[in-house]
Amino acid sequence: MKTWDLFNQVRRRVKDEVGVFQKTATLKVALCHPSPYKVGMSSLGFQTIYREINHHPGASAERAFLPDSPEDYRKRRVPVFTYESETPLGDFPVAAFSIAYELELPGLLETLDLCGIPLLRQDRTEKHPLIIAGGPLTHSNPVILAPFVDLVILGEGEDLVHALLDAVAGTSRHTLLSRFSRVPGFYVPGLSPGLSEIARVEQDRLPAYSRILTKQAVWASMFLIEPERGCSHGCAYCVMRRSTNGGMRLVSPDKVLSLIPDHARRVGLVGAAVTDHPEIEELTDKIVASGRRIGISSLRADRLNENLLRILCRGGYRTLTTASDGISQRLRTRIGRRTTEHHLMRAAEMVRNAGMQRLKLYQMIGLPGETKEDIDEGIRFSLELARVVPLSLSISPFVAKRNTPLDGAPFEAIASLERKLSAIRSGLKGKVDVRPSSARWAWVEYMLSQGDENAGLAAMEAWKNGGSFAAWKKAFIEKM
Ligand code: SF4
Repeated sequence: MKTWDLFNQVRRRVKDEVGVFQKTATLKVALCHPSPYKVGMSSLGFQTIYREINHHPGASAERAFLPDSPEDYRKRRVPVFTYESETPLGDFPVAAFSIAYELELPGLLETLDLCGIPLLRQDRTEKHPLIIAGGPLTHSNPVILAPFVDLVILGEGEDLVHALLDAVAGTSRHTLLSRFSRVPGFYVPGLSPGLSEIARVEQDRLPAYSRILTKQAVWASMFLIEPERGCSHGCAYCVMRRSTNGGMRLVSPDKVLSLIPDHARRVGLVGAAVTDHPEIEELTDKIVASGRRIGISSLRADRLNENLLRILCRGGYRTLTTASDGISQRLRTRIGRRTTEHHLMRAAEMVRNAGMQRLKLYQMIGLPGETKEDIDEGIRFSLELARVVPLSLSISPFVAKRNTPLDGAPFEAIASLERKLSAIRSGLKGKVDVRPSSARWAWVEYMLSQGDENAGLAAMEAWKNGGSFAAWKKAFIEKM
């Protein structure tokens, strides 16, 4: 791509957007996503912080994303720039990154590097932007960010971002960081005595919802809104359970409906346990009755019923996606996942009866104590489901996360995971569509999810050496 094409690509995207803030303020924040545009624009957290910053008196946010092809930017010496004013990131006093999970860390490094901003915080001065991080990764292991970022907002950032913006203007970086190093919900690498509890906002700050709609997002032109936050279940591997202490926070259907703009023709209900909302049928029914299509981020098989399925069908559903996670009943029970074969079979029958095309099921392999019998049971039951309705299995290796009861559980050997995957594939060949995620990259994610600052430094080495799996392996061996 020529230099001009890089700018034109961004301008075409902005042209397709509805809802961009046109605000200029004294304190300008570059709000960055370490994944490409279409992923970043589908992140409800990113959109929420964009709104919060722009609502703050005296502050404005402009968006930037990891380029689709960083090499084109490097070749043309074009720094990453914001979509709103085409200003390079390095010219902002503050650059805030929203990071979903461990494998987005290289995207953060790439973005900083493309802007000529030193990767290590110790190599930066007051002339460089203050680098802030937040997002779902901070629920589990923000420590891997410590070598690179100046400050981390832990957990739900809607309130804390305002406290920070109030303090940034007119305060020297050193004073600012020392002040926030001891404030709960903030983590200042090198100064904070440790990690505090993650922040949790009050119910009246909900729901989060999209600000900008665009057909160029993964969820094309879909208005995302959160009818609930958290989950009241306690699956032993799940990071979201941590935000649940005290139960789910619910938003009334009337409030959700009142926030959907007229121009939104597709609505995505986002949350850890959307189908646990006691008024989910009423809410989905009203959205569909208004002529909109609908999507739900988390359908629990045990919460499905014929009526909800009928509503979803009317709202454009063709594939029903749910998760069983453990591959056998024994493992599901062991990890606290309450979904049973009975629930899954009932879901398959309802999908068929509702005239939908397919059931898609998320599963994990490599849970502690998993045996050949568990894998055999998974194959046997998948075949039973596939006799009822066309079935897709999305299979990921288990990755133990910090702040969960399974924290510290080992990662199964890659070769063993690959053997299990090939047994599942051959057992289901021609009958079930099997889509496995890479065991190698799951291992990289595991090393980062369980690692400390050295794992962050290993990520930097791996990224510098081209980011291949071999580069990651070498970096972890050398640094850890
Ligand atoms: S896996 Fe799902 S049901 Fe289980 S605790 Fe997490 S969000 Fe809740």
